[in-house]
Amino acid sequence: MNNDKLINAGPSRHGWHGLGLVLRCPRLYAWEKQHPKEGLKRIPLIKGSLVHQGLAHFYQRLKEEQDGNDPTQWHEPVVAIAMLAQQEALKSEENEWLEWVEFAQEAVKQYMAYWVTDSFKILAVEKELEANVYDKEYDCYYPYTQRADLIIQDQNGNVSIVDHKTTARLTSSTTRRYSLSGQMVGYNVLGKGLFKKRFAGIMLNMLELPKGFPDAIAVFKRPEVEATPYSEAYFKNTIIHANRVINLYKDKPVGEWPGSHLTTGCFTNFGACDYHSECQWGF
Ligand code: SF4
Repeated sequence: MNNDKLINAGPSRHGWHGLGLVLRCPRLYAWEKQHPKEGLKRIPLIKGSLVHQGLAHFYQRLKEEQDGNDPTQWHEPVVAIAMLAQQEALKSEENEWLEWVEFAQEAVKQYMAYWVTDSFKILAVEKELEANVYDKEYDCYYPYTQRADLIIQDQNGNVSIVDHKTTARLTSSTTRRYSLSGQMVGYNVLGKGLFKKRFAGIMLNMLELPKGFPDAIAVFKRPEVEATPYSEAYFKNTIIHANRVINLYKDKPVGEWPGSHLTTGCFTNFGACDYHSECQWGF
């Protein structure tokens, strides 16, 4: 019995993250590529990654069971969480990853107990979806990928892409905030292309883990993401434009990449852009 597999639940190869960044501000993309700041936004990222890893193993084991295979070829969720934390702590030589292991294990345990009556069929776990987008003007293709956290099918044969999200606070506008994000528009485009009329849309698998968790109570919800047919029809142009900008400046130093210089980008409600000081004074 092979019990040493750890699922890759990380970012996909040519995903939305980089394209979204270059559209928000080309210079911010250049800063991140040329002068990355490793420790930024570390704690939410660590918590989310560990919970995500646990969910990936939970669903992969369930899928093996449904397919009549041996689920124990994959680690149990709590073990997978601890293993990922150890791997990342070794890589970064920082112990922060280890400090959030119990937090993530408890979140996944509560999640599994809460959704124990689920009856959908699991089609895929952490599946990288891929497309090549043709740019007619430059006669070239841009690879585009997104890793779907989970793909499920209900009893009527309808297929949904499920995206896991951990958050400290769910609000009435949380779902709306995501609907036009490139990640969701991309899922819709790829999902419709793959599953045609069987594609029912995207489900956000929300885990609200408030301040004080695990002593505070976790909340679990699965809202559907609103349809965005207009943006889906033109999403290809968004991908092409972002790639053209990257190709135009890719060999240039940061200062030659245009900055967006918007109050909504340089200093948001969540605080200053991570490179505000460098943009002000230089590197
Ligand atoms: S401070 Fe503004 S211009 Fe500079 S990288 Fe950030 S978003 Fe771009």
